[in-house]
This record gives sequence, structure tokens and C-alpha cells, in this order.
Amino acid sequence: MENCIFCKIIAGEIPSKKVYEDEDMLVFHDISPQAKVHCLCVPKSHFATLAEMDEVQANQLKRCFEKIPAIAKDLGLENGYRLIINQGQDAGQTVFHLHIHILGGQKMGEKML
Ligand code: 5GP
Ligand code: ZN
Repeated sequence: MENCIFCKIIAGEIPSKKVYEDEDMLVFHDISPQAKVHCLCVPKSHFATLAEMDEVQANQLKRCFEKIPAIAKDLGLENGYRLIINQGQDAGQTVFHLHIHILGGQKMGEKML
């Protein structure tokens, strides 16, 4: 997808601090971390929100969720972590390529969930 920053990161056109990569997903550190550990798990297929997702993409997203526990373990998040997927403008989504925030490395605040 043209002009999508995460597609460009997946294509290697924009550098990122990679944590994990396979045929389904790229996981890298967020450029503006909101917790001691803040990574983004990005399915390689471009779709903006769950509402736009097709069946193939849903299976790819399922494999992302299946892999996240092992990635979290490698990141040292044995005590737990928070996953966030912003959907649309009211949620504060700024990059319209679906991604899962992985946040941890500290006790997360209770204010937002
Ligand atoms: P959203 O607000 O869409 O849920 O999350 C987008 C996230 O992408 C933000 O946390 C933002 O810091 C991160 N981000 C935006 N541009 C880049 C970039 O070029 N590189 C990396 N590593 N993260 C980015
Ligand atoms: Zn994209």
C-alpha cells in the first residue's frame, strides 16, 4: 500500500528496531515508547481496521496472537503485558495499518483498563 508507513517498514524502506519477523508479521520497537517496553506487532498484509479485514487477513492476525506470548517472553515480559489495538480516530489510531501494541516492562496503570 502506497504511503503507508508500516508497509514501508515491512518492505525495509524505513528502518526499524526489529524484534521478530516471519512470513505473517513484523514486530519492532515503537519509535515513541509509552512504556519501558513498547513494541508493535504488525501483520504483513495491509488493512486499516478489523472492519476491513478479510478471512485470509483474519487468519494472519490469529497467527500474530498465537506468536505474541513467545515474543513477550523473549522481551522479558514474564510478569505480564498489555495489548492494545486502536480502531479509528476516536481511539487515537494514527497509522491506518492494523497493529497490536505490546506494552510492558513495568506495572501498567489502571486508569485505562
Ligand atoms: P496508533 O496511534 O495508530 O495506535 O499507533 C501508531 C504507533 O506507531 C505510535 O505509537 C507511533 O509512535 C508509532 N510509529 C509511528 N511512526 C513510526 C515509525 O516510523 N517507526 C516506529 N518504530 N514507530 C512508529
Ligand atoms: Zn500498510
